[in-house]
Amino acid sequence: MTSNVLTQKPHILEITLEELKAIVATLQLKPFIATQIMEWVYQKCVCDFALMSNISKANQKTLSEAIETKWGEKIDVLPSKDDLALKHIFYLNDDAKVEAVVLKEKTYNTLCVSSQAGCPVDCKFCLTGVVGFKRNLQTYEIVGQIFSAQKQGHAISHLVFMGMGEPLLNFDNVFKAIRILNAEYGFNISKRKMTVSTSGYLAGIERLIKEDIHINLAFSVGCANPQKRELLMPIEKRNPLTEVSQALHRYQALHNRKLTLEYTLLEGKNDSHQDIRELCALAKYLSAKINLINLNPHPKIPFKPISTKSLHQIKETIEKAGVPVTVRFKKGQDISAACGQLGESYL
Ligand code: SF4
Repeated sequence: MTSNVLTQKPHILEITLEELKAIVATLQLKPFIATQIMEWVYQKCVCDFALMSNISKANQKTLSEAIETKWGEKIDVLPSKDDLALKHIFYLNDDAKVEAVVLKEKTYNTLCVSSQAGCPVDCKFCLTGVVGFKRNLQTYEIVGQIFSAQKQGHAISHLVFMGMGEPLLNFDNVFKAIRILNAEYGFNISKRKMTVSTSGYLAGIERLIKEDIHINLAFSVGCANPQKRELLMPIEKRNPLTEVSQALHRYQALHNRKLTLEYTLLEGKNDSHQDIRELCALAKYLSAKINLINLNPHPKIPFKPISTKSLHQIKETIEKAGVPVTVRFKKGQDISAACGQLGESYL
C-alpha cells in the first residue's frame, strides 16, 4: 500500500478491501466497518468519514486520524461545445496537474484516464510529450479520476488509459488502481471494458506476460517502419518495433483480449501507400484492429493532419487488405481534450 506523500497516511482511494480490513482490525474497530466504508466510497461517492452517518463519531475520528481522504480538491471542468466531451483538470497537492476526459457515447460514458503527470516518452505528435514528465500518479490519484467523474453524476462504464502518460511506466500504481476499479466492492468496472494504451514499452509488456495480467491493449504504432518510427517516437531506440511486436504476439496468444493498433496520421510522415501496407502487415501478424486518428493539430506540434479525402482512402485500403479498421471521431478538440492534446493546462 502506498501512502499520501504529504501525510504518510494511506489514502482511502488506494486501499483494497483486504487492506482496509487489516487497518480496521489494527484500530480495534468492528470488522463490518470496512465494508460500510467501501459502500460509502464506491456506492455513494463519499470519502469524508464525517459524512458516514452509520459510523459513530468516535470511530469517524479514529479513522480520519489513520486514513487520508483528501486529494485534488480544486478541479476545473471544461465541457466541449457539442457537450460530447468534458475535460477535468485536477490540481494535485504538489502543484502537479492531471487531466481526464469524460467521453459521452449514446448509451454509456467512457473516461480517458491519466497515469502520469506529463509523460517522459516524448512522442513528437503528442502535446503531453511536449509538456515533459512531472511524476508518476499515485494509485489514489488514478482511482480519484473515476471517483470524481462518478461523483459528478457521470456513470462511467468504460475506461481507457490513454490520457497523460505511459501506463506501463507506472505499472504498480496503474494495475493496483485497475484491481480496485474492477473489484466488486469498488466501481465493479469489467476488465473487458478497460483498455490500457502503450507506446510499446517492452519491459511492461513482458511483465504483463510474466504476471499473467489480462487486459485489452492499445498499441500506439506511430509508423510501422522502424526507421521512420524512431523519428516520431524516440522510444523506438530502446524498444524496437520488431521486439515489441513479438512480445505483443506472445501476449495475445495467452488470452482472447482485444488488441488495437492506434495510428495517428501525420501528413507526409506516415501516410504513404508503403506506410499503410506495412501497418496492415503488422495488424495481420498481431490479429489486431486498426484505429485511425487524424492528428489533432496544435501550435506546439510540428505536424499537419491529412485531408478527409485521404483519410477515407486510407480506411478503404485497409478494409481491402482485410483488416478491421475504425476512425476515431474527434471529441473535445475545442477544449484540447482530444487524443494527444492533454497537457494544455501546463502550457
Ligand atoms: S502518446 Fe502517450 S506515450 Fe506518447 S508522449 Fe503522449 S502520452 Fe506519452
